[in-house]
Amino acid sequence: MSVFAAVTLAPRDPILGLNEQFNADTRADKVNLGVGVYTDAQGKLPLLASVQAAEARLAASPAPRGYLPIDGFAAYVAAAQKQVFGTQSAALAARRVASLQALGGTGALKVGADFLHRLNPKATVWISDPSWENHRALFSNAGFEVQTYAYYDAQGQGIAFNALLADLGRAKAGDVVVLHACCHNPTGYDLTQEQWQAVIALLQARDLVPFMDMAYQGFGQGLDADAYAVRALDAAGMSFVVASSFSKSFSLYGERVGSLHVVSQDAEEASRVLSQIKVTARTTYSNPPTHGAKVVATVLGDDALRAQWEQELAGMRDRIAQMRAGLREALEAAGVRQNLDFITRQQGMFSYSGLSAAQMQRLRTEFGVYGVDSGRLCVAALNSGNLPRVAAAVAAVLQ
Ligand code: PLP
Repeated sequence: MSVFAAVTLAPRDPILGLNEQFNADTRADKVNLGVGVYTDAQGKLPLLASVQAAEARLAASPAPRGYLPIDGFAAYVAAAQKQVFGTQSAALAARRVASLQALGGTGALKVGADFLHRLNPKATVWISDPSWENHRALFSNAGFEVQTYAYYDAQGQGIAFNALLADLGRAKAGDVVVLHACCHNPTGYDLTQEQWQAVIALLQARDLVPFMDMAYQGFGQGLDADAYAVRALDAAGMSFVVASSFSKSFSLYGERVGSLHVVSQDAEEASRVLSQIKVTARTTYSNPPTHGAKVVATVLGDDALRAQWEQELAGMRDRIAQMRAGLREALEAAGVRQNLDFITRQQGMFSYSGLSAAQMQRLRTEFGVYGVDSGRLCVAALNSGNLPRVAAAVAAVLQ
């Protein structure tokens, strides 16, 4: 009898499962709005010119590939810190941020979760309702009890802010609150600056531990504006954690370019924290890979390449905004009467459409338009070629 005979089949990842279904669909005009990946006006995953230039530069002087330090490539980590916290950061100036290169945003969340669990295994982790589907699994696998706080207000097409505050008001001291820094996944609804200030006051008053997940910096309003919440926590002098990802902003999904930052109360505390997150990294994957970190550090460390990247990122951001406006107009032109301004009020790669699971299934089976059953559509995969068909399909299932 096989030692593995008792192994049961794990449920399919809902989004990757959707991809498999999409790939098996033989219709030529099918559209994949499931996975959170930005594609350009031609429907292609971009390879940014700034990235290509950095790669050409790196290839011109080939370097051997020894192990990186456990906490990663120092120039990358320093550049990531600046990108996340900005030039005015009190925490960076006081050297009280413990940072390491991580395997994407997911790897940063995992190292951060393991670190926090060792510190306080009895803490509850609070995630938004709904949240990125991996948050619950990631924090439960780290050993935490996970609860949700109110977030999405379907009726009001926005955020259930009073309910959010009420739920966080029930958290106990030391609990961890996972917050999407910008471009909330899956709803696309972000807190206003005033709302962030109210949340920060509550986190502070109740001794909660903010864990900021920033996977979409640059896709909302801009690189600095999207980091508002992180920088407000810094300005408030709080201890907190940030998981940052360049997967989307550099279109380097497969290179696993992320970073983890633990903002501590002083430099000495930060050095103890760093020693502990390095233990987690060492006993999980030992050290991170070199290529993506060198590419990002090359771009961010060179004025011309950085300017080029910022322009390319702005191009992605603007194109998404155009597609949002285009979708709204096309739905209105198709006679959809309900209020559609939520499409352009939401930010980032996703639109929470309010469509039911049955409507999403109809979109797939009748029209070959693939979105997530929760109603989430990746508007970053719309282009002028597929938008008319998507709008016609959505209008059809709404009527
Ligand atoms: N956090 C959120 C909210 C995300 O949407 C994603 C990716 O989709 C991640 C984290 C993970 O990013 P990465 O691909 O860098 O691991």
